[in-house]
Amino acid sequence: MYKALVLCALAVSCLAANLKLVDKGRSNYAIVIAPDASPSERHGAEELQKFLEEMSGARLPITAERQPRMVLVGDSPALKELRLKIPYTDLGPEGFVLKTAGQHVVIAGGRLRGSMYGVYTFLEKLGCRWLTPEVSRIPKARTLVLGPLDEMQKPAFEYREPFFSEALDRDWAARNKTNGSFQRLDASVGGKVQYFPFVHSFDQLVPPSRYFKDHPEYFSLIDGQRRERGGQLCLTNPDVLRIGIETVERWIDAHPEATIISVSQNDRYGWCECDRCRRVEEEEGGAHSGPLLRFVNALAAEIEKKHPDKLIDTLAYQYTEDPPAKVRPRPNVRVRLCPIAACEAHPYGQCPYDAYFVKNLRAWSKITDRLYVWHYNTNFAHYLLPFPDFDELIADIPMYKQHGVVGLFMEGGVTQGGGAENAELRSYVMAKLLWDVKADANKLIDEFLDGYYGKAAKPMRAYFDLMQRQVRMAPDGMGKHIWIYDRPSAPYLSDEFLANARELFRQAGAAAESDAVRTRVRKARLGIEYVALTRAKKFTVEGGWYRPADLDGLKDRWNTFLSGLRQLGITNISESTTAARDDQDFGKYVRPYRVVTLENSRLRLHVVPELGGRITHIIDLRSGKNVLQEPEPGAKQYPDLGGLAVTPYEDYVTRMPGSTTWELDAGESPNEASLTGTCENGLRIKRRLRLDGAVLHTETILENTTHAALPVALQSRWDVDPGGLETVVVRYRKQDGGTVERALIEPERIPAGSESYNGGDQPDGEWRVVNRRGGLVMVNRFPKEQVGRCSLTWTAKSENRVGLTVWSVSRVLQPGEQVKLAADYGTE
Ligand SMILES: [Zn+2]
Ligand SMILES: [Zn+2]
Repeated sequence: MYKALVLCALAVSCLAANLKLVDKGRSNYAIVIAPDASPSERHGAEELQKFLEEMSGARLPITAERQPRMVLVGDSPALKELRLKIPYTDLGPEGFVLKTAGQHVVIAGGRLRGSMYGVYTFLEKLGCRWLTPEVSRIPKARTLVLGPLDEMQKPAFEYREPFFSEALDRDWAARNKTNGSFQRLDASVGGKVQYFPFVHSFDQLVPPSRYFKDHPEYFSLIDGQRRERGGQLCLTNPDVLRIGIETVERWIDAHPEATIISVSQNDRYGWCECDRCRRVEEEEGGAHSGPLLRFVNALAAEIEKKHPDKLIDTLAYQYTEDPPAKVRPRPNVRVRLCPIAACEAHPYGQCPYDAYFVKNLRAWSKITDRLYVWHYNTNFAHYLLPFPDFDELIADIPMYKQHGVVGLFMEGGVTQGGGAENAELRSYVMAKLLWDVKADANKLIDEFLDGYYGKAAKPMRAYFDLMQRQVRMAPDGMGKHIWIYDRPSAPYLSDEFLANARELFRQAGAAAESDAVRTRVRKARLGIEYVALTRAKKFTVEGGWYRPADLDGLKDRWNTFLSGLRQLGITNISESTTAARDDQDFGKYVRPYRVVTLENSRLRLHVVPELGGRITHIIDLRSGKNVLQEPEPGAKQYPDLGGLAVTPYEDYVTRMPGSTTWELDAGESPNEASLTGTCENGLRIKRRLRLDGAVLHTETILENTTHAALPVALQSRWDVDPGGLETVVVRYRKQDGGTVERALIEPERIPAGSESYNGGDQPDGEWRVVNRRGGLVMVNRFPKEQVGRCSLTWTAKSENRVGLTVWSVSRVLQPGEQVKLAADYGTE
């Protein structure tokens, strides 16, 4: 099986002075390391020995003695004798040189990991590829000839982490030169950039469970109250800083292996609104990142005194993504900027929806030359969903480098069983680009697909290209945007795409030459099966029931799909829940629900008492259109979401503990019905619905039927679909005068958002959603004395949804007291 072929590092140089590393399965060379070689140098030498033998049959000895013909790995007395100038300082801990010197080969660099990385690059020049932990391509050749070598490499980024289950393996990670915190890189391969904790650490830094009771002032003031849950820290409180420093010092003592400590906001909103924090924000140009970075800097300055080698990490994420006006990150601080709201289809510099992020990136890179980015690389709600972000990925890793970014966390799916869409290919391409942003990504994709799918590579490449074309800007593609929580019903997953993809998978399955490859093709096909399955879940109203068209067939398909996942070892199809939990939810939610229909000459209304007393449809009979936004069948808890519903809360911030059970009262008429809701904490809700022309009148009375005083705020929210949001405005008169015409899509902004209005900023009893292109106008009216707050939410991410929410006045209800909220919903 061994071929006698000659491999040249540099083809043209084959004619020049060549080194015969192996000749017909025999070698005169020895691998030479220092007697005190570092662990990774020793490991590199062993890997070199192993793969050269696997390639050629020749086993080169490893020694610390000078030899007539040497492959030198790392600095050593033998290498020093050659009197070469190796620029170790410039190479840093991870860089290396590859050189031929007379009859010798030199692979030398940083002792931490550099020389070892040099070995892998040398082997790659001989044709070795480590595509996945299980699949490698090691060429066979009885004779190995090398042309002259003289090059130097350093990593493009100091921190390189493809975060996929498929990228955690120690050997795969070392061989592909990644150094991420979650990768199983131990001391034998020179360790890694080790975080502790990894992220979202405020609750650990100053635990509310320990401090809130005696010191509520340590925690966020939100809407007038200090909050134990749902918030952040009060970052201008000196005791919070003192405790934070003590905690970080404890963390460093307990985790000496950690090289970087994350002091970062909890994974939610809820910044502190106290006067001191607000004042700092004002000084920092209104940026919430101002108080955060001042706090992190102060903490990092203290930590540096005892631990000058440790880095402190924080986030520029969601509400802290805008940079501060004055404060600058200290040299021992790393800020991770997170483009969580970006469109992932298009290179960030080319997509209008990503302009906001490019602006932030530029601004941050102006104030620090040590910026990290937390990049997103999968659909977190649907790991299996086709996620054509390769144009973006391939363009943006080099773009980050241009902007001076020095570390990249590439967040994909890490679960017990892995299986996120294209995880293996993605990890491979990422690893290569993270090392060298000039690597030819298209060539990498081809080489991966060839090695991974063998004879099935051609249709799999065609499927890959088909996917990318769904989103690529015209004229090369359909120009759709994609998002990290995109929906299986997103427009880029068109029926035509699914049909074409099915055919390509058929071809790939037929071409596959082994069971292993057939399994890989089957795994890749799960994405389109998942889309079709999710779409079959869609509920419709028929014969008094709200249910999927073919419930029994759907259950069979779901079970078959899950058993397919189990066979492939896949445990999660989303970040938030396991597939086992999804199965439980399927059993709980996917069943027929009784529907109550109200109708007059203008509107038909479907109410599903069991789904939170929710109105699922308001059909305008003249146009036949459902004015309510239809929820996504792929969403968790579908169909128990969206529509028009009332919900009791403790206040405008805190959700009511427990759920509400609704029942239809007797005595409905064709255009009128009433419902009774019982909350788990004993509150009672009475709700009346009445159709009158093109208007639905609702009136809700919440009564405290318990024996204790309870804080309450009643929320009534409707989600409508007014068509493409580019031309949609929300129009109203403010209570303190003046007309508002709020455009929802604005340049350099993400196409989604939410706002709350208080006092005189609230609509004066009426607001409407208007599409300037025409169509139905949606109107919500309310008695303003009953309403304490209004909020507006919207998204154009793969759907057109506008939510208008009115809240009752928030108050403490004594036993027997009531709060009332009336609201009219209609079309014009
Ligand atoms: Zn504060
Ligand atoms: Zn885009």
